[in-house]
Amino acid sequence: MRNKLLVLGKENILLSLRRLLRRACIPYKYTFISTWRCNSRCRICGVWKIYRDNPDLLQRELSTDEVLRIVTGIGGRLLWLNVTGGEPLLREEIDTIICKAYKRCRNFSLLNIPTNGIATARTVSVFDEITSRCAELFTYASLSVDGLGARQDELRGVEGCFDRVMETYARLLGLGRRNMKVFFQITISRDNLADIPDLVRFVKKEGIPYFINIAHEMRIFHNQESGIDVRGYAAETTELLRQLENEFRFWPYDELLPRVFLRLARLFVTGGASPISCSALEATATIDPYGEVFPCPFLDTPIGSLRECNYDILSLLGRHSVREAARRMKRCRRCWQSCEAYPAIVQNIPQAIRAFFKAGHP
Ligand code: SF4
Ligand code: SF4
Repeated sequence: MRNKLLVLGKENILLSLRRLLRRACIPYKYTFISTWRCNSRCRICGVWKIYRDNPDLLQRELSTDEVLRIVTGIGGRLLWLNVTGGEPLLREEIDTIICKAYKRCRNFSLLNIPTNGIATARTVSVFDEITSRCAELFTYASLSVDGLGARQDELRGVEGCFDRVMETYARLLGLGRRNMKVFFQITISRDNLADIPDLVRFVKKEGIPYFINIAHEMRIFHNQESGIDVRGYAAETTELLRQLENEFRFWPYDELLPRVFLRLARLFVTGGASPISCSALEATATIDPYGEVFPCPFLDTPIGSLRECNYDILSLLGRHSVREAARRMKRCRRCWQSCEAYPAIVQNIPQAIRAFFKAGHP
C-alpha cells in the first residue's frame, strides 16, 4: 500500500537531513501545467486568452509520448503530482498519462487536480478512470467555486457555471471512491470579498469540504494590473481571513494545513510578502505545457527546456546552476498560493510555527 502520509513523512525527514548536511535536494512534488487551454472566462485570470489571441501556440504543447518520457525519467522521485492549467482536463489523454505515471513511478501516492468542473461528463470520466485504475493513489479533486449561483456565473464568465459545478460535484461523489476526496477551492479576490461569507455558509450547510486560496496578480496569470490582488484590500481581507481560520480545526492534518495557511496568509496580506522560506526547486518543480521547467508555477523565467535535454528532468534539476537557483528561491517571498505554500509549511515547520504565533490568534 502506498500510504501518502508515510511516504511524505519519510521524504520530509530525508529532505531535512540533506539540508542539514548541505547536500542537494531533488524535488518530490511536481506541478504539471498540462495545457493553457481553458473553457472558462474568469475575471481573476486571463489564461483563457492565451490561445484565443495566439492559436498557433497550441501546436507547441508536449505530446503524450513526450510527457511520458518526462514522467518515466522522474521515476521514484515522483511522490506528489499537481496537474493544473488552464483547465487541466481539456488536455487529451490526461487520464492515460496519470495511469501510466502511477505504473512507472513506484512512490507516486498523491495527486491533486484543480478543475473548473464546467465540463461535467469529461471531468467525471477522467476521475473515474484514474481512481478505478490507480487504487493506491490518493486523489484530491478540487472544483473552483468563487460565488453562489448567478455570482459564480458572473465571476467565471460562463452561464450556468454554478449548476454545472454542482452537478459535477454530485456525480464525483456518486462514484463512491475511497481513494478520492472532492473539495471546493474558493479563491478570495477583490471581486468576491463580500460573497465569501454566504458561500462558506452554503458549503458548510451542504457538508462540502473546501479550502481557501487568495488571488494574486502575476504575469503568469495574465492579470497584471487587474486590481484583483487581495493585498490591495488588506483590512477587509485580513478580517475575512480571521473569520475563515476559525472554520478549520487543528486536526486532522487536512484541516490543520489550511488553518496554518490562512493564519500565515494574514501576514502575507498585511506585510505584502510570504512569511516563510519557499521550497521551490528544493521540494517542488513545475513543468509547463511546452516542456519548460520553472521553479514554481508563478515565476516566468525557466531554468531549462526538457526538449533540449532529452526529457531528463532529474539531470536538469541536478545541475549546479539549478541548485544555486534553489538557494535563491528560499529567499523569494512573492506569493502565498496553496500549491506552493503547503509544501513550504511542511518543509519549514519551525519557521511556520514561529510565524503562526507571530500572526496571533484570530
Ligand atoms: S482561473 Fe482557471 S478556470 Fe479560470 S480562466 Fe484561469 S485557468 Fe481558466
Ligand atoms: S515565493 Fe512564490 S513566486 Fe517565489 S519561488 Fe516561491 S512559489 Fe515561486
